[in-house]
Amino acid sequence: MVLLTVGTGIGGGIILDGQLVTGGQGMAGEVGHMSVAREGPRCACGNVGCLEMAASGTAIAKAAQARLRAGGASLLATRFAGVWERIAAADVSDAASSGDVLAREILADAGVALAIGIINLMVLLNPEIIVLGGSVMQAGDWLWEPLLATVADRAPLPYRAATRIVRASLGDDAGLYGALSLALPDR
Ligand SMILES: [Zn+2]
Repeated sequence: MVLLTVGTGIGGGIILDGQLVTGGQGMAGEVGHMSVAREGPRCACGNVGCLEMAASGTAIAKAAQARLRAGGASLLATRFAGVWERIAAADVSDAASSGDVLAREILADAGVALAIGIINLMVLLNPEIIVLGGSVMQAGDWLWEPLLATVADRAPLPYRAATRIVRASLGDDAGLYGALSLALPDR
């Protein structure tokens, strides 16, 4: 399985044959730094085109700020009245729920970027299940539906039905459960 946590950044974990994959230096599973685009703003990691720069909460907020700075029409324009740097990802979700087209486009773009990353993981690992958690996944269906539609449309044919893609169910306690499962003796 692969877990992606989509929040301020994008983290992840890969479990193969019941074991957490850590890699040679403990750096395996950094799914937020997979490349999903040839170009884009430079990520703190040093690369460009990272998934985290396209689909994290930070990226969603920055995309909204850029669109509004460029004069985009949105409910957010009235609400933030030029103080664009105060727009957070949750505000974009709220606007999308209220029918805002610009906000829905931004969340759909993030969903497509996540789908590209997920397709790469499907091809590389053939996981049984990919779980998506983190605050951004609470954005509702404006991100989720384009994500699923893009996987359904673009994943290589043998892979399309091979991996279940679900939203996480443990909420903010997921990290606690994970830490506990590492500390408990093997069952
Ligand atoms: Zn990066």
